[in-house]
Amino acid sequence: MGIRSVEQYKAGLNDGRTVFFKGNRVEDVTQHPDLGVGVNHASLDFELAENPEYRDVMTVNIPETGEIISRYFKTPADTDDLLKRREMIETSTRLAGGVVLLIKEIGTDALFALSLIAKRIDEKHGTDYLDRVKAYHRHCQEKDLSMAVAQTDVKGDRSLMPSEQAHPDYYVRVVEQRPDGVVVRGAKAHTTCAPYVDEIIVLPTRNMTEQNKDYAVAFAIPANTPGLKMIASPFGASSSSDFHHPVSSHHRMIESLTIFDDVFVPNERIFMNREWDFAGALANTFVEFHRFTAVSYKTPLCDLFTGGAALIADYNGISRASHVREKLMHLISYAETVRALSKAAAVDCTRVDGVAIPNSLITNLAKFYFASNYHQMVSYVQDIAGGLVVTGPDEADVTNPETRDYIEKYLGGVKGVSTMERLKLINLIRDLTASDFGGYHELLAIHAEGSLEAQKITIYRGYDLERCKSLAKQAAGMQMSN
Ligand SMILES: Cc1cc2nc3c(=O)[nH]c(=O)nc-3n(C[C@H](O)[C@H](O)[C@H](O)COP(=O)(O)OP(=O)(O)OC[C@H]3O[C@@H](n4cnc5c(N)ncnc54)[C@H](O)[C@@H]3O)c2cc1C
Repeated sequence: MGIRSVEQYKAGLNDGRTVFFKGNRVEDVTQHPDLGVGVNHASLDFELAENPEYRDVMTVNIPETGEIISRYFKTPADTDDLLKRREMIETSTRLAGGVVLLIKEIGTDALFALSLIAKRIDEKHGTDYLDRVKAYHRHCQEKDLSMAVAQTDVKGDRSLMPSEQAHPDYYVRVVEQRPDGVVVRGAKAHTTCAPYVDEIIVLPTRNMTEQNKDYAVAFAIPANTPGLKMIASPFGASSSSDFHHPVSSHHRMIESLTIFDDVFVPNERIFMNREWDFAGALANTFVEFHRFTAVSYKTPLCDLFTGGAALIADYNGISRASHVREKLMHLISYAETVRALSKAAAVDCTRVDGVAIPNSLITNLAKFYFASNYHQMVSYVQDIAGGLVVTGPDEADVTNPETRDYIEKYLGGVKGVSTMERLKLINLIRDLTASDFGGYHELLAIHAEGSLEAQKITIYRGYDLERCKSLAKQAAGMQMSN
C-alpha cells in the first residue's frame, strides 16, 4: 500500500475499539467532537505525505522495491537520515500549530529500539525476536499504520519494584503463558494518541530483576484487541472557538489511561517475554530515540513564542524598550539552542548494527535545557504581552453590536494595527501560554519523554568526567599517572 490517504486512516479507526471519554463509551472516535480534533490533527501526517510540496520531506523511495513509504519507517543509517527525520518532525509540527503529530514518530522510535535490543536478546537467549520485530516493522510500513507507545506504567508507589506493590498490576505483566501467546494485565498511563491510532506498542518502563521477570514484556497489538480499554483524557483543550483558541481548537494530542484487561498477545507480536535482563536496555534505548524526536518537535513552539512576543511588542509600541529586546534575545537563544543541539545530536551519532543512534548526551542536554527553561520562556512572553491575555472579551462581545464598537475603540494598540488583529494575537498567546492547552504544554515540557531527573542522570552518566579530572590535575601541576 505504501502511503494511505486521510480517508483510509480515518476508516481504519472505526473498528470497534473500546474508548471512553468523560464517562461515555465512544462509538466512533473520528466523529467525536473532542477526539475528532485529535484525529484531524493526526490526519495531517497523511495529508502532507500526499502534498507535492512536502512529499520529499515526508516520504522516501525504497530503491530495492521502488516503493514509496512514509519516511518515519526508514531506519536511520547515518547522520543524513537523522537530519531528514528531524526536518520531517520539525516541519510537520510547524504546520500543525507547534503540536507534534506523534502517530508515527514515537512508534518508529520504538521499532528502532526493539530491533537493536531484540538482536541482543536473541544472541543471549536463543529467541527469534529480531525476525518478529522486522516482520512487524514491515507490516506497519506496508500498511502505513499509525502507532502509539505505551511505556509509562501507572507505577503505584514509585519507591517499590513492581512485585512489591500494594497489588501486582501497577506495572503491565504476563499473567498467563499459552502455546500460541501470552495474556497480559495492567495499565499504562499518558499514552499519547492511543485512542486514534492503529497499533499500540508496549515497552517496559524500567529495568527489572529476576523476581520481577513477569513485568519484562514488550509487544504490539491492534487498538481494537479484545480486553484493551482506553480512558481518554479531556485535558489540554480549552474550547472549540477558533477565535479564543486559534491553535488548540484545531490541534491537540489526547492521552489515555490504557488498560490491559487480560489481553491475549499472539507469539508473533511478542518482542520480550520475561527476559528481565534486557528490560532496562530496551526502556533506555527507546528513550534515546524518543528524546531526539522530542527535541526535533520542540522548536516550532519556541518559534511561536518568539514570534508572538515580538509581534505583540510591535502592536503595543514597546519593541524598542531594552527589557523587551532582552527578553526577545532570551527567546531567540532558547529556540536556536534547542535547534542547534538537536542537529548536533544527529551529526554526532553513533552506529550500532547499521542503525544511527543520535548522540545521547547532546539529546539529553537539549531536552533538559528545553524543559528546565520552559516556564521562564512562558513568563517572558506573558510579560511582554500584558494582562489582556487573561482579561480580554469573549467572542460574543466582539460580535454583539452593543459592545463591538467599545472593544474596537478601547482595545487598540499602535496606529495602523486593527483592534481585531491585536485581539487575535492576544488570543494566540493565551492559547499557547495561559489556557488549559497552555498548562498542558507546561506539563508536557516537564514530563513527556521522561522527567527532568531522567535527563540529568543520563547527562551525568554519559559525560567523560575523567577527561576533565585529568585536565584539572594537569593544570594544577599534579603528576599524571599515564
Ligand atoms: C503530555 C504527556 C504525554 C506523554 N506521552 C507518553 C506516551 O505517549 N507514552 C508513554 O509511555 N508515556 C508518556 N508520557 C509519560 C512520561 O514519560 C511520564 O510522565 C514521565 O516519565 C514521568 O512519569 P510520571 O508521570 O509517572 O511521573 P512520576 O514518575 O511520578 O514523576 C513525578 C516525580 O517523581 C520523581 N520520581 C519518580 N520515581 C522516583 C523514584 N523512584 N525516586 C525518586 N524520585 C522519583 C520524578 O523524578 C518526578 O520528579 C507522557 C507524559 C505527558 C505529560
